[in-house]
Amino acid sequence: MTTREFFSTIIFLFSLMAVLSLVELVIPLFARDQRSRGRLIANLGLTAVTLVLNWGLSSAAAVIALVLSQRRGLLVPLALPLPALIAISVVTLDLFTYLAHLTMHKIPSLWRIHSIHHSDPFLDVSTTLRQHPMEGIWRLLWIIIPVWILGLPASGVVVYRLLSSGNALFEHANIRFWQPLDRVLSLVWTTPNMHKIHHSRAPEQTDSNYGNILALFDRGFRTFTPTEQALSVIYGLEDSDSKREKSFPGLMMLPFARSWHDHS
Ligand SMILES: [Zn+2]
Repeated sequence: MTTREFFSTIIFLFSLMAVLSLVELVIPLFARDQRSRGRLIANLGLTAVTLVLNWGLSSAAAVIALVLSQRRGLLVPLALPLPALIAISVVTLDLFTYLAHLTMHKIPSLWRIHSIHHSDPFLDVSTTLRQHPMEGIWRLLWIIIPVWILGLPASGVVVYRLLSSGNALFEHANIRFWQPLDRVLSLVWTTPNMHKIHHSRAPEQTDSNYGNILALFDRGFRTFTPTEQALSVIYGLEDSDSKREKSFPGLMMLPFARSWHDHS
């Protein structure tokens, strides 16, 4: 990723964050209370770390892809047109992102890292990139593997990452989405209400709706929970420490904390 591409991405993300923040004021899903206060600095700090890390990692990944020569991927001999390759890239990378997310819930050491994202006691646009830097590295590995094996084009990865970032902001925003429409769209798309359920304190809800853009994988792998339940969800973690969950250094050190109750 060049410096210019990095700043274009930043402008796109911050513009969308600003618009969604305004929509949150007009049609909030949940009213703000003491759970929503005091989180912004920690969330924006982790957002800044994630963006800079992704820039560095994407640049490194571009060099690795060049060295490995994408032209040897399984799809290359088929000589498919670029739109078809971009469509294949979006679906394939979304499947691998689903699997990356699922593994972070099933492997205890990875859950320690991913729990930073789930420890937010309230959900809004600032939650989207509230993640530990090691989560970014894990997710990128799951992107590199299909790119390398299939020989997916760089433009396919760029389109996927833009769609993924945009949808992630939308999923986390504290906005009221019309339930009947949400229910129909969740047949194929990971809607805002669908993802809200994944942030529930109830384990049976947390262990569902792992999807990123497409709902098809949750439906296919039987990890789908109906979106009506979003309206009664209580966010966060049952055993969380309210001081740490709102502190930037506290969240950075959370995976290494001694008093840890592994997710099961
Ligand atoms: Zn999760």
